[in-house]
Amino acid sequence: MDVYGLIGNPVEHSLSPPMHEAAYDELGIEARYVTFEPEAAAPAIEAAETLGVAGLNVTIPFKQDALEAVEPDDLAARIGAVNTVAFAGNGPVGYNTDAVGAVRALEAHGVALDGEAVVVGAGGAGRAVAFGLADAGASVRIANRTVERAHGLAEAVPGASGHGLDELPALLAEADVLVNATSVGMEEDRSPVPAEALHEGLAVLDAVYTPIETRLLSDAAAAGATTVDGAWMLLYQGVEAFERWTGRDAPVESMNAALRARL
Ligand code: NAP
Repeated sequence: MDVYGLIGNPVEHSLSPPMHEAAYDELGIEARYVTFEPEAAAPAIEAAETLGVAGLNVTIPFKQDALEAVEPDDLAARIGAVNTVAFAGNGPVGYNTDAVGAVRALEAHGVALDGEAVVVGAGGAGRAVAFGLADAGASVRIANRTVERAHGLAEAVPGASGHGLDELPALLAEADVLVNATSVGMEEDRSPVPAEALHEGLAVLDAVYTPIETRLLSDAAAAGATTVDGAWMLLYQGVEAFERWTGRDAPVESMNAALRARL
């Protein structure tokens, strides 16, 4: 019996256990996925390795601290945060599958990533999405309420530029992809983007998944844009973690069904 887990605080309502256990059931893997709320990231990762835990996810507030306890891959090191740890025998290795999760969610909806992409938000999710989209070939424009944070992130992301939220209408007029990586819209009927700035040629991913249909996504659908909800990003970060841990293709449909049954 393999044990996988999640460290964070709080993790009580995490959707990762049902999503990963659906994959184990579908593929006949004898494993369980359990959640932990440790005091700190590094000792928890060391303990997990000692105990023979097969793989760990890491969530808020430990994604940055986890860097100290792992050898991060190039992408996780550039983002400065780890959400997936694999124990490959030579010490813990850290990945950031939020970045790839956003890219795979868009690609699964047929969205091309070789054009202009606007990322709203420069916090943890914004950093991961900006690096992920740039690596996938997009020209990234980062807009954030605190404009200095957008400029700081843009300096680190190849080819990116930083902007204030007031520039969103002009940026979106030229854009093919929009990702909301702020918490605006979470448990509230509010959008970080003016509805008039949305248009038919745009694909819109909202990282927020509570509610599943946010104000931004309903405005985007009304404007004729392609919409991708935040559960797709959550799904594909889990799919990517599963594939890194097991070396097998993830049963995406079963994982998606388990996730959506609980949203
Ligand atoms: P975070 O590090 O705290 O960053 C929050 C971001 O939201 C910052 O850019 C902040 O701007 C902005 N913001 C907050 N309140 C705002 C307001 N009233 N107006 C405009 N901007 C505002 O949080 P995070 O970890 O990046 O998470 C952001 C969201 O992404 C959350 O809803 C989270 O659940 C979601 N998320 C989803 C997935 C997924 O798999 N779907 C993965 C990760 C995160 P300032 O810099 O100006 O404060």
